Amino acid sequence: MRAVRLESIGSLTMRSVEKPVAGPGELLVRVAVAGICGSDRHMYKGEYPTAIPVTLGHEFCGIVEEIGDTVTRFTGGELVTVDPNISCGTCRACTQARPNLCESLDRHRGDTGWRLCRICGGAARASLHPAGRSRSRSRRLQ
Ligand SMILES: [Zn+2]
Ligand SMILES: [Zn+2]
Repeated sequence: MRAVRLESIGSLTMRSVEKPVAGPGELLVRVAVAGICGSDRHMYKGEYPTAIPVTLGHEFCGIVEEIGDTVTRFTGGELVTVDPNISCGTCRACTQARPNLCESLDRHRGDTGWRLCRICGGAARASLHPAGRSRSRSRRLQ
């Protein structure tokens, strides 16, 4: 599939990459729209710690194309938005309903600048995302 990859600081490339496969607890989302955030610009300029190469675009929505094992809340075909703040759900902050303070917070991009940006985003035909951090918008469309 095609993806926009940050290959090195200041170098974006549209290239073919292997299409990911949804693992346990994950969705493969066929990307409909992906935004360009100021965080993407910071990554491009080398201002955020980033595991390069990485696909940009942590703000995106799309259609659930594939469902990993253990996922029960989705059946496929739903329009979803993704939450790029991927909290663990088990640390002290998470269990106190404060996932924004998660001790192992991960992001598609990393708006804070101090977390390693390493998860591929939505500037591609499809992107993996944890089912627990995806929200269906199907009801609003009915
Ligand atoms: Zn952002
Ligand atoms: Zn946590």
